[in-house]
Parts: sequence; C-alpha cells; structure tokens
Amino acid sequence: MTTIHNLGFPRIGARRELKFALESYWKGASSRDELTALGAQLRQRHWQDQAGLDLVPVGDFSFYDQVLDMSFLLGNLPERVQGFHGDVLDNYFRVARGRSAQGTEDHSACCGGVAAGEMTKWFDTNYHYIVPEFNAATPFKLDAARLLAQLAEAQAQGVKAKPVIIGPVTYLAIGKAKDGSNKLALLERLLPVYAELLDTLAGQGVEWVQIDEPILVTELDADWQHAFNTAYHQLKACRVKLLLATYFGQLQENAYLAANLPVAGLHVDAINDREGVQPLINLLPTHKVLSLGVINGRNIWKTDLNATLDWLEPLAERLGERLWIAPSCSLLHVPVDLASEKKLDPEVKSWLAFALQKLDELRVLGKALRDGRDAVKAELAANAAALAARRASPRVHNPAVQAAVARSAAGLGRRESAYAQRAAKQAALLKLPAYPTTTIGSFPQTAEIRHARSEFKAGRLDYPGYQAAMRAEIARCVREQEALGLDVLVHGEAERNDMVEYFGEQLDGYAFSQFGWVQSYGSRCVKPPILFGDISRPQPMTVEWITYAQSLTAKPVKGMLTGPVTLLNWSFVRDDQPRSASCKQLALAIREEVLDLERAGVHVIQIDEAALREGLPLRKAQWPEYLDWAVESFRITANGVRDETQIHTHMCYSEFNDIIASIAGMDADVITIETSRSDMELLDAFDSFQYPNEIGPGVYDIHSPNIPTQERIVQLMQKAAERIPAARLWINPDCGLKTRQWAEVIPALSEMVAAAKTLRACM
Ligand code: GLN
Ligand code: ZN
Repeated sequence: MTTIHNLGFPRIGARRELKFALESYWKGASSRDELTALGAQLRQRHWQDQAGLDLVPVGDFSFYDQVLDMSFLLGNLPERVQGFHGDVLDNYFRVARGRSAQGTEDHSACCGGVAAGEMTKWFDTNYHYIVPEFNAATPFKLDAARLLAQLAEAQAQGVKAKPVIIGPVTYLAIGKAKDGSNKLALLERLLPVYAELLDTLAGQGVEWVQIDEPILVTELDADWQHAFNTAYHQLKACRVKLLLATYFGQLQENAYLAANLPVAGLHVDAINDREGVQPLINLLPTHKVLSLGVINGRNIWKTDLNATLDWLEPLAERLGERLWIAPSCSLLHVPVDLASEKKLDPEVKSWLAFALQKLDELRVLGKALRDGRDAVKAELAANAAALAARRASPRVHNPAVQAAVARSAAGLGRRESAYAQRAAKQAALLKLPAYPTTTIGSFPQTAEIRHARSEFKAGRLDYPGYQAAMRAEIARCVREQEALGLDVLVHGEAERNDMVEYFGEQLDGYAFSQFGWVQSYGSRCVKPPILFGDISRPQPMTVEWITYAQSLTAKPVKGMLTGPVTLLNWSFVRDDQPRSASCKQLALAIREEVLDLERAGVHVIQIDEAALREGLPLRKAQWPEYLDWAVESFRITANGVRDETQIHTHMCYSEFNDIIASIAGMDADVITIETSRSDMELLDAFDSFQYPNEIGPGVYDIHSPNIPTQERIVQLMQKAAERIPAARLWINPDCGLKTRQWAEVIPALSEMVAAAKTLRACM
C-alpha cells in the first residue's frame, strides 16, 4: 500500500487571513490572543483540508517564516535581541521585522533600535527567509515549546502528524557566519540539540519526522558532503524515523550520499528529476522508504494523472510498501484554492490546480495505486479530458506566434553597430551633460492614483475619465522633474499597478487570478500572473502614455518596459514547453513595443530586468544554458532599434561578479543598478571586467525614507569614478520611487541633481 503525504501547506490562508491578522496585530489594532487564535484556526482548517492523507505536516505553520522558527527552536537568536524583555512572540517579530526605539510597541524604549534580520531567497523560489546568523561561539539550546504545542493541537484533532523541521546541514548552509568563521564547525554543537529534539518528539508519540535537506540538490564540496554523514550518523540513535526530504532540483552527484545516509526514508523531487529516480532506486538500501514528489508544488497546472500512474505503477509493484507519494515540495509556493476563483476564464481554469486541488490529485493517485484505476475511473477520465482540451486549445496554440518564432532570424538580437559608434550618435542626438541624471521609472503611487485605478476597474470611472486622471499625474510628474532639473525624464508609471501585471494584462496568452496569492515573506504576498498560451501583443501597450509625457517637455522622456526574462520569472509559466520558448515569445512581443516606441519618436527606452539574476538555476553547471537564452531574449527585445536610440536596462540587485559577462552581453547602452548600500564596491565587478558601456550606479536607497545628502552622493560618485570612467557614468537612485511620498522624493532628487552639478563643476 502506497503511503500518501504532504510536505507543507500554505499558511497564509485562502483569503490571506494571516496577512491581515498579522498587520492588524503589528499596528496594535488587535490583541496577541486574537492573533494566536487565528493561527490555531488556520492550522485546524489546513489539517482538515489534508484529511485522508496518511501523514500530515505539523510545524509548517509559521507566523512569519519557517527558517526563523527553526532558529528559535534551536535557540539561535541574533545577539542583538538577546535578553529582551517581553513575550516570545514579540521577540520573534522583533528579529523578523526590526524595531525602532521610537515605536509605540511594548518595550520599544528599552529594547528597541533593533535591525531586522537579513532576508534572502529560499533556493530558487520567490519566498524569502530570515537568514540564520552565526559566529564562532554561537550556542544552541532546544526550545521546542512552539512545535510541541502545534503537535499536541494536531494530535488532539486526530491528525496523523509528521513534524517538519529543517535539517542541520541545510540550516547551517543557508545561514551566515557574521564573523567569517567556518559554519561547519558549529555542527558538533548543533547535533545534540537536534538529537534532543527528535527524542522529545518520539516521547510525544511521533513515528515519522520530515527533515528537510534541500541543500542536497546543489553542488556541495567535500566538507559539506562529509557533514551529512557526520550529522545523520549521529542522529541515527534517535527513536523517530527520519524522512529526509530534498526538493527543487536534482540530486545528481549527491544521489549516492543521499541514498546511503542512515535514515528511514528519502523524499525526492520527481518533477524536476524523473530521470534520477530509477538510478536512485538501484542505490537505495532495500529497507528504506522512497517518497516521490509527483505533483508539482511549484506551478499551478493539473497533473497528468494517467501518465503519472503509467510511470508509478511499475514502481509501486517493485517497491510495495516502501513507495510513498507526495507533492514535489511544500505547497507553500502555490495559491490555496482554485475554487475561490470566480472571474478566471473557465477554460483556463479547467486546466489548473492550486494547493487543495493538488491534494485531491494526490488522493486520486493514492487510491488508484491501492485499489486500481477503476476505483477512480471518473476522476481519471475528467483529468484526461481537461488535459486533452488544453493540448488542443487554440487559446494555447497560436499559429501566428509560432510562425513568427520560426521566422525570427539569428541576427535579431544584434544592434546595427558596436557601442562606440552608437554612443557617438546618441550623444549627438540627446546632447546630455556629463553625469546625466535620471530616475528608474516609477514616481509615487499616490492615493489619488490608486483610487482612480480601482474606480476604473470597478466600472465606476469610464476610460476617458481614467485617462484624464492618469494624464494629470503624468503631467505633474513631468513638471516636477523639469523643475528639479533632471536630464532624462520618465512618465512616472502612474498607470501601472505592477510591472509584470501591467504587461501581462495586455498580452494575449496571460490570465489573472483573484486570490492566487503566494507568500513572499512575512505578511507579504505576490499574485503571479499565469502565462498559459502563446504570447502575442494585440496592440501597443505604453506608447500612448510615453508620447503624452514627451509632448509636455523638450527633454528626452524614457520609454519604460518590463523585459521578457522578468515577465517570465515573475509569472507562473507553461509546463508544456521549455521556459526558454516562452521567454522568446515574450521577447518578440516586447520587441514590437520597443519598435513602436522608437517609431513614435522616443529616443531612450528602458527595459527592466529586475528578475534576471533570480532565474539562475540552483546548480552552477546549469547557469550558462539559462544565461544564454535569457540574454538572447533580452537582446531580441532590445536590439532591433537604430543606433541613435539609446537602450537602458535596470537591475535592482547588487551581485554581478559571477554574471558580469552575461550582463555585458546584453549590450544595453546604459545599465542602472542598485549600489548605494554596497558603497560602490560592487562596481569592482564591472571594473575588472572592463565593462564597456554606460552605468548608472544607484546613489541612494529608495527603501529608506532618509533623504540623501549632496555630499554623500558626490562622495559615492567619486568612488564610482575611480572604477568607471566618468564619461560613462550616470546618476540615479537605486530603484523606482513608487513606494515613496512626493515629500521625500523632491528633496532627495534635488540633492541628487545638485550633486551632479558639483561633479560637473569639478571636471
Ligand atoms: N521601472 C520600474 C520602477 O521604477 C523598475 C522597478 C524594479 O526594477 N523593480 O518601478
Ligand atoms: Zn529596481
């Protein structure tokens, strides 16, 4: 009999209940008791939603982040919050979010002034965790109260509980040694705490514990591989059975190691690594459970149940009781319930599965394996029909798009001339001063803008009324920029709710959910658009707004687009063709927009690729392939223009060392990046590569309300000029200004413009 189980459930709630409860609590509008009661209610509901599974995750619920929970469980709190007066939950939020000394929360005055924990992406997902902090002396001490309370709750509700924790090696690997010490040296001190935890769980009647070690799908050096052996040999004596869970990728060279660790079972991602399963079975000692993740925990498509059974049945035959099945990873990364969607196109909807539907699929697979396919005949037939409809749908397959892709010539991504020639022509046309100033695109999204948009969406404001409201904002934005004395202006993006959604809504091949929220960090969620079909652009998307802005000023206005790689990486994308193919279609569609802007007289066009870096595969060996097609997609989008048209790109991150050659390969005339917090040090990557084109290193952090000073900006630019010739430097903020107030933006930008004037005067 095949065991069916789940690795984790989305905690945010089908209606984002947790988000609203957290934000209300943080504001002081509701009590701690109300918040904890809501938590209990969500856990109870989510366990009910998982009824019928043989094992259900416990401990996957979190008020902020499962990695931070793990740090608390192990007693590993950053030094700066130790000895805090007050409640554990408050201390927890203090680590997560930081706390100001001036705040109104309890103990702000005595224990405030604390920086938030650093956040970073959880493997290749869009989920951000709070980075565990270590130093050579970090002590660990078990604090299992939270986990035990959830376990007791689950057991009281009759849940077949499988506690979920992060394994010791992954926990160390994803943390940061603040003093530069060797994190692995902490393993010895860490393991007894894990052992104590596992024995405590055994004492509570737990049979299986899921211990997540996703770091096994990345390249590990010998020390880290060795750490796995050390760790699991030491934990072997514990009285629970361990299911070692890996996900998000392929074990590859770590397969032998993973198969032979002394644990009772191994979970692998059979979506990302179906080919690895057979060889793994041959390696796996015959007493071990093999859990196969056969339902994609990272996308929103229905599983092909019949095809999955074709593959699973012989394995079930061979493995018998040892076969378990589950989603590929925690369902944290998908929305909760497709049934909530009332506005989604019914045809597209019929192809989708969110978390609850994925669990239904799991139950069907389990039943088919147990009782034969006939026992779930109707479900299998309905699934086959939905998949067949999707495969045949003209909504998915657009011959015109496919013909355009097939026709697209190899030279499509090349500019007419090299940068040096282009730069001369652009200089002659644009006549910009040295150290030209610009911004990244968005200006404050004011309450009036949001109001006009929601009225328009609700049908209470007609298009002419909406257009007039947006034009008024654009006019204001242009006026302010002229008054500030900026050199290359923008229209301010008033009409955009979101840099991906705005384009997705206007492209054919995209659909939008109402409640398809996925946790990004803490109470923050994103609602990725659904790229379901061949992509085409029925009509221009931005030309009207940009040309209106240009009509108001003699200064150049920069057209503003989101690039193909970012559109792809921030969407749920098709699983019926490679990501590269979807990206190329996006590239061709956005290219048309670029050419339309050029035709309309726009001389500067920015194509944002904020998410290019985050699409990098987990394994470095796979980077070149990704970078090749990602860069080529950008080039197809950007490089159809004449020499005189200046292409900008923007990337808001600060790690370029390992991808600088690809960044240069994009061949944008100007790239603007985030640098202010790194004190211009990240320009070293550009310097040592001898990056040939122009760069705008961000001179102030737009995430902070602080107003930068002219002196500081001059100082930063001087540092920049030590690395990049001044003639190729621009001055701009780190990123867009949409989250700021006008009252912050005006003084900040005037300092910036003043700094440019000072720098020009010293030339
Ligand atoms: N043009 C966008 C803006 O200014 C870029 C945002 C981003 O890169 N995240 O808002
Ligand atoms: Zn940015």
